[in-house]
Amino acid sequence: MNAFIAENLAQVHAHIEAACQAAGRPASSVQLLAVSKTWGPDAVRAAHTAGQTAFGENYIQEAVDKIDALRDLPLVWHCIGPIQSNKTRLVAEHFDWVHSIDRFKIAQRLSEQRPDHLPPLQVCIQVNVDGGANKSGVSPQELPALAQAVAALPRLQLRGLMTIPEPAETEAQMRAVHREAKDLFDSLRARGLPLDTLSMGMSADMSAAIAEGSTMVRVGTAIFGQR
Ligand SMILES: *Cc1c(COP(=O)(O)O)cnc(C)c1O
Repeated sequence: MNAFIAENLAQVHAHIEAACQAAGRPASSVQLLAVSKTWGPDAVRAAHTAGQTAFGENYIQEAVDKIDALRDLPLVWHCIGPIQSNKTRLVAEHFDWVHSIDRFKIAQRLSEQRPDHLPPLQVCIQVNVDGGANKSGVSPQELPALAQAVAALPRLQLRGLMTIPEPAETEAQMRAVHREAKDLFDSLRARGLPLDTLSMGMSADMSAAIAEGSTMVRVGTAIFGQR
């Protein structure tokens, strides 16, 4: 398993570097988040041995068990899945980042429940750019007000936006959706919010996302294999 994961990670890094080069961006401008949902602590340990430190998880209880089992490693944990109100305390106590803020109530609970001995929780707002019906995320219209409100919470630090576009047929369609997300990101920055993170792009649309300005790609299958 170790060699398989190390080899996959090297390929994903090569893919990111090629996409950055094609876009005229430095390779260091895109961070890789390894999505380890459904995989056990041993797979995460193998990826860490191969140099990976940032991991993304969707299912809160599964993630908390993994985080506890890997306390001996200096890992950075990102919550990228939907969060119900009754799970905010677990998230506030265990994660470093949350990408999936989609309403104020959840952000407010996370801020209230973030333990004092930990640094502020780093957060992104999930925005539903293409209006996909079965997915969470705030609409582009509601985004500016939510961003201002979240940025004012004391124990959160608003870092940027996250998107999960619907599968598209062509590269041009993918890029058009990513470009809308980048425009929203730029317009919030123009309003004075100091954002630096645009979490967009997965195994299938990484290059298109990087071409349009992604700063963090979230990759599971291409690193760990089919779930
Ligand atoms: C599962 C997941 C990913 C990773 O998807 P892959 O296709 O396995 O690369 C990225 N982002 C989110 C929000 C996910 O749920």
